[in-house]
Amino acid sequence: MTDTAERKMRFLYALRSRGVTDIRVLTAMERIDRGTFVKGLFADRAYEDMPLPISCGQTISQPSVVALMTQALSVTPRDKVLEIGTGSGYQAAILSQLARRVYTVDRHRRLVREAQEVFRALNLTNITAFAADGSFGLADQAPFDRIIVTAAAEDAPGPLLAQLKIGGIMVVPVGQSDTVQSLIKVTRHETGFDYEELRPVRFVPLVEGLGPE
Ligand code: SAH
Repeated sequence: MTDTAERKMRFLYALRSRGVTDIRVLTAMERIDRGTFVKGLFADRAYEDMPLPISCGQTISQPSVVALMTQALSVTPRDKVLEIGTGSGYQAAILSQLARRVYTVDRHRRLVREAQEVFRALNLTNITAFAADGSFGLADQAPFDRIIVTAAAEDAPGPLLAQLKIGGIMVVPVGQSDTVQSLIKVTRHETGFDYEELRPVRFVPLVEGLGPE
């Protein structure tokens, strides 16, 4: 077996052993090469199940967390999805394999620019990335079938709940500190919201306003 094939097999095995069972999610994780999203010093660790540093002092999430969040979101091919926290663009690229259309926003213009270059290189034409404060969602394109927040908020942000379709699902890490956070799955019903706590996670915080670059 070649190094690449073996690396891929190990990568997928690690995801399965962390509880990723949805075959569509596993296929997307197999098709999108995480190595494309990690630059410089850490590039050779792209296939390990750990978060890694990216530009602007941010991190690309651990692949098993990306896969488990994607699985919890139950994306269907008809869905319009909003991601808050583009970062490297990896999570958006995974979602692009499962959804009709992906909108992704980040408060750092530089991250958005770099992610757009990767989307173009991979010909992922159903992703639109914007620089914006995602705490307010993306009113122009609302409502969304699915919303995923990849930075931790104190609570599920009100504007995002308002931009979720009835029957829609949002996955968001919530917590008061940067050490203790829970991944929450919110489902919108005709009359309100259901909250389910999924697992402990650790994300960089959701920060107000646009970043310096
Ligand atoms: N999903 C990314 C990882 C995200 S790291 C990936 O797949 O690589 C969290 C990201 O959230 C950071 O890039 C940070 O800049 C962004 N962020 C934090 N607060 C934000 C806000 N209010 N609006 C938009 N993006 C925000």
